[in-house]
Amino acid sequence: MTTQETIDMFGKYVIANYGRLDKVITKGHGNYCLDADGNEILDMFPGWAVSGIGHCHPRVVSAIQQQAAELLHIDNTFYIEKQGRLAKLLSDRAFGGKSFFCNSGAEANEAAMKLARKHTAKEKYKFITAESSFHGRSFATITATAQPKYHEGFLPLLAGFQYVPFNDIDAIEEAFNDEVAAVMIEPIQGEGGINIATEEYMQTIRQLCDANGAIMILDEVQTGMGRTGKWFGYQHYDIEPDIITMAKALGGGVAIGAMMAKPHIAASLVPGSHASTFGGNPLACAAGIAVIEAIEEDGLLDNAVKMGQYARDRLQQLADKYPIIDHIRGVGLMIGIQLTAGGGNIVSRCLENNLRINCTHDTVLRFMPSMTVTVQQIDTAVEILDNVLATEN
Ligand SMILES: *Cc1c(COP(=O)(O)O)cnc(C)c1O
Repeated sequence: MTTQETIDMFGKYVIANYGRLDKVITKGHGNYCLDADGNEILDMFPGWAVSGIGHCHPRVVSAIQQQAAELLHIDNTFYIEKQGRLAKLLSDRAFGGKSFFCNSGAEANEAAMKLARKHTAKEKYKFITAESSFHGRSFATITATAQPKYHEGFLPLLAGFQYVPFNDIDAIEEAFNDEVAAVMIEPIQGEGGINIATEEYMQTIRQLCDANGAIMILDEVQTGMGRTGKWFGYQHYDIEPDIITMAKALGGGVAIGAMMAKPHIAASLVPGSHASTFGGNPLACAAGIAVIEAIEEDGLLDNAVKMGQYARDRLQQLADKYPIIDHIRGVGLMIGIQLTAGGGNIVSRCLENNLRINCTHDTVLRFMPSMTVTVQQIDTAVEILDNVLATEN
């Protein structure tokens, strides 16, 4: 099928709720994808952070091929070996927590908020979240997402949410009282423009939660699974959250989400209180196990640290050269290029030159390659971006 034929089919049969680029991607391998016109695109934003170890990682492909032939799905009426193994692998890498599995980031955050309500005292009902956050598109998670543009047309939202400016210590101290069930923030805001929580902010939230019997939830849907050079974003701070949520890169391209809670909190999610039909199915869990094994055996956390530093250094050279770049910020391979003007056109022109990056919050380019990225691939990406910026007016 040609690109135009596919686009025409979408026009007739697919709901147009996404602004799409005029390209059909048919194949992916590593840090490249191939479009229907035969172009090979260097992908520095693979799958919106889903393909965290690159497209079609051989270990993930082989794990799901094998699992598919054995057992695709079985319901949670039974114990599922792969689900137990994935939960153990995650627990060993983050505060010994226990996991609930679902299929997406929004569902993981829903589960976290339900657990926080269920676990805390009856008079506690409030959730505090941060401006510029992004937590998903379900009703509870758009309510948690403190950005008016995501609320348009959907009012009234859920009751009980209060928003505070990100990284503002006074504001969160003021917002706190004994009605707060939980605080939920991203350690590094992704969609909000790569905004990094300060150590002092994280410490303050931890102390406020402890003092008031509230739950500290960290949304690690984008920061999790090694992207920042550690398994989870919170591990860059001297704190331990009560709950983390993950999705995106967890399945290496297969839909899976998880909510992990400290065991004494997790105990509140008793039979009948929460569930997901597809959650923790053998296929998705086999993919998750393969992702963790690949990261460990190929030394990808280390590569994320090294390549992250290298990419930031190279991008800094562009920042020194072009006034449209205000500064570079990021941790590991979660990198934002703060522009002084809109970046949509830069993204389109990079794509014309077979480089994929992303623009969020109008003026922040997201440079978030997979953990398998190489020096040469970063060099190529920076060179294309350099050429585009040189002719940007
Ligand atoms: C993408 C994202 C979500 C939503 O995940 P879905 O799988 O689209 O529901 C939630 N939180 C953060 C931080 C995200 O980046």
